[in-house]
Amino acid sequence: MSTVERTVCDPNCHANPKCGLSATVENGRIVEIGPADYPIEGFENRICLLGRARLEQQYHPGRLTKPLKRVGTRGRGEWEEISWAEAARLFVEAQKRIAAEYGERAISFQQISGAYGLLTRNSPVRYASLTGATVIRSSGIDFGVAKGLEAMFGIPASTYFSPGGHSHDDAINSELTIIWGGNPAVTKRVDQTALRRARKAGTTLICIDPVRSETAKMSDEWISLRPGSDGALAWSLVHQLLSTDRFDNDFVSTHTNLPFLVDAESATLLRKEGEPAVWCAASDRVVPLSAAVEPALRVDHSEAGRRVISVFSEIERLAAEFPTDTAEQLTGVPADIIESLATRYIDADPAAIRIGYGVDRWYNADLNARAIAMLACLGGYIGLPGGGVSLEGGNQSLPIKSTHFAMPGRRRPELLSMMEADSAVIDGAPYPVKMTCISLGNPFNQVKPNRNKVLAEHVAALEFICVIDQFMTDTAKWADLVLPACSIFEKDDVVVDRFIQLQQRIVEPVGEAKSDFQIFRLLADEYGVGEHFSEPQDVYLDEMLNDDSPPLAEVNMERLRREKVVFPWPTNEPYVGFRDRVFPTPSGRIEFFTEHLREHGAELPYFREPIEASPQHPLFEHFPLVLLSSHSRHRIHSTFANLEMTKRSEPEPVVRISLADARARNVRDGEIVEVINNRGRVVIRCAIDETIREGCVLIREGHWIDDFIEGDAYGLTHDHHSPTTENYAHYDVLVELRRIVQTDTYA
Ligand code: SF4
Repeated sequence: MSTVERTVCDPNCHANPKCGLSATVENGRIVEIGPADYPIEGFENRICLLGRARLEQQYHPGRLTKPLKRVGTRGRGEWEEISWAEAARLFVEAQKRIAAEYGERAISFQQISGAYGLLTRNSPVRYASLTGATVIRSSGIDFGVAKGLEAMFGIPASTYFSPGGHSHDDAINSELTIIWGGNPAVTKRVDQTALRRARKAGTTLICIDPVRSETAKMSDEWISLRPGSDGALAWSLVHQLLSTDRFDNDFVSTHTNLPFLVDAESATLLRKEGEPAVWCAASDRVVPLSAAVEPALRVDHSEAGRRVISVFSEIERLAAEFPTDTAEQLTGVPADIIESLATRYIDADPAAIRIGYGVDRWYNADLNARAIAMLACLGGYIGLPGGGVSLEGGNQSLPIKSTHFAMPGRRRPELLSMMEADSAVIDGAPYPVKMTCISLGNPFNQVKPNRNKVLAEHVAALEFICVIDQFMTDTAKWADLVLPACSIFEKDDVVVDRFIQLQQRIVEPVGEAKSDFQIFRLLADEYGVGEHFSEPQDVYLDEMLNDDSPPLAEVNMERLRREKVVFPWPTNEPYVGFRDRVFPTPSGRIEFFTEHLREHGAELPYFREPIEASPQHPLFEHFPLVLLSSHSRHRIHSTFANLEMTKRSEPEPVVRISLADARARNVRDGEIVEVINNRGRVVIRCAIDETIREGCVLIREGHWIDDFIEGDAYGLTHDHHSPTTENYAHYDVLVELRRIVQTDTYA
C-alpha cells in the first residue's frame, strides 16, 4: 500500500521558505521524494538535489540506531551499544557530578544549524533552563556581517538581518543588483531562480568576488578583488559619491546620524539638552536635533579651542583616503572600474546590494559590511522595493513564542557566545565549562577553527562530551556518549519562515533513534524535572504558535495537522525591509557612527587590513596564498558529505589554484600536493582552475576528515576573532602550496 505524505526539509541552506517535500511511502518505507504543493502560487517544483538526496540519507547504512558509550580511548572509535535508560543514566550522572564540582552552568548545550524545527531547536534550551546549565548562542561563524548590520541598523545579529533585508523575489524590482562576496547560484539553491528571472527582465547583475564563481558566470559583470579588501573598495565608492555630491541628501539628513556632531578630541557624539547635537545652517549654531530647522551635513567648526565635526564630514575625510588609484592598489580593482561602478550604482533606479558570507569570514567582517551598507544609505535605497542591503534575503518575523517553551517560568539559562564558551572550556573563564552536549551540527569538523588546537585543548579539557546525531560525524567520534537522532521523516515539528509548515513523522525511526524532543524529555525524567516535559508535543507547539494578533491568530496545530502548510500573510508581495523607515537603533536613525563600539576603536567602519591574509603580515613571506573555503553545491557545510550522491560528484577534496600560481610552484594539474602553514598541513589533490584569482587557493568546506589523504583543511585556520564580530575568521588565513618534496615545518 502506498501513500503520499507532505513534510518539510529544514537544513541550514537558507532557502526561504524551506522546501516542502512530498514523500511516497510504501509498506512503511519511503520510496520516492519530490516537491510538495504550497497553498499559493510561485513555489512550484521547489526542491534541490539535496532535498531529493534525503532518500539516500534516510536509509544510509551509516545511520546510528542505538545509543553508544565510548569504551576505548577518546577518538579511537571503540563503542558499546547501550539502552536508552543506560544512556540517560550516564548523561545525568555526569551532569550532576560536574555540577556538584563546578556549578550547574559548567554543562553547556549547543545546537548548531542542522535543523530548524521549533521543538528540535528549543528542547535542549528548555532542558538547560530547567537544570541551570549554559546555552551557547548563535555566534562563531557567519555572524560578522550580521553584527556589522546590527551596529548600523539595530536589527539583532541573531536574525541574520532577515527583517532588514529584501526577499529574493524583490530582485525583479532592481535596475542593478550587486552580489557582493556570495555565490547564490550555488548556495541559494532554490531561491537563485529569482535572480535569473530578474536578469531576464532587465536587472543588471554585478558580482564582486575573488573567484569567478557560478554566480559571476551568470552575472553581467564580474569584479575580482583581493580577498578581504571589500571595505577598501566600499570606501572608495563612498568617496566617489561624496566627492561629486551624488548622494540622497534628504535621506541621509532625515534617516541617518550623518548630521550628528562629534567632539573631535574625544571622538564622542555631542549632546545638547539631552539630544544629539547638530549644526543648524539656518541659525548658524549648534542646536539639539529637534530644534534644527536646517541640519547641516558638512560641519567642521572650532570654538573656544574645541573642534566639532559632523559624522558626515568625518566620513568624507576618511573616504578621501581612498581615491581610486589607492583603492586599486589595495583591492586590485582597476580605478576606472571603481569609477564606473559608483556611477552605475548611484544612477540606478534603484540598486540593491546582497552581501554573501564571503565578506563574512574575516576578522574585520563587521567593519567591511558597514562600509558596504553605507553605499545603500547614501543612495537613499533603504526601504525602497528593489533597493536595500540584504544578507540572507529578507523576511518579516512572526511573533513565535519559542522562549515560552525554551525558558519555562522565565528560567533563563546562562548564555555564552561560541568564543566565550571556548574560553570557558580551555581557560575556565568567565567560568569553567566541563561538559558539553552538541546537537544539530558537526563543530569539530569546520565550524571551530584551528582543529588541531580544538582536539589538543578543547576536547581534552572537557570531562564529558555527548553528541546527538544521525551519523558518526567528525564531532561524534570524539564523544563519550552518542545518541541516535531521528531524521526529518521520523519526527513531528513545525518549521517557520515565510510559511508555517508541518514536519511530520511519516515513517518509523530507524533502529531506536529518537527525536530531540524525546531525548530531552527522557533526560528531564532522569534528572527529576520530567513534569516540565510531560505534555504532548502539540501542546508545546501550540504554546509557541499561540498569538491573538494576525498573522498568527488563526494558526494552531489542529489546522496545521489538517492543512500541513499555512501561508499566514495577507499578501505575497516581495518583502522589503525598513519600508516604514523605522530603525531600532539608540538614535532611531541608521548609525554610521556607533558610539558603543568606540571602546573597540570601531565607532566608524574603518578599513583595516585582514588580520593574517595580508601581504603586510610577517607570515606572508612563508605562506603567500590566501585560503578560501567556500561552499559546495553538494553539501550544506558537512551535512550530506557522506552520501554516495555527493561522492560521485566530488569524489575527494581538491585544492584549486590558478595556472600562474601552479606554474610558479612547478605543480601540475591532478598532482598530490601539500597545503601548509604554521598551524597545520593537508595532503590533497591539486586542480588548476582559471576561475581562481592569483594569490588564492580554494578548498571547498564540509568534507569529512577521513576524505583527506592526510591531515585536514580545518587545521589550517586560526581562532583569532574580533570582539565586535563574535565570528571566527575562517578565510583570513595564509598558506603555501607545494609539491611534496620537503618535510621541514615552520615554527
Ligand atoms: S536542502 Fe534543498 S530541498 Fe532542502 S530546503 Fe534546502 S533548497 Fe530546499
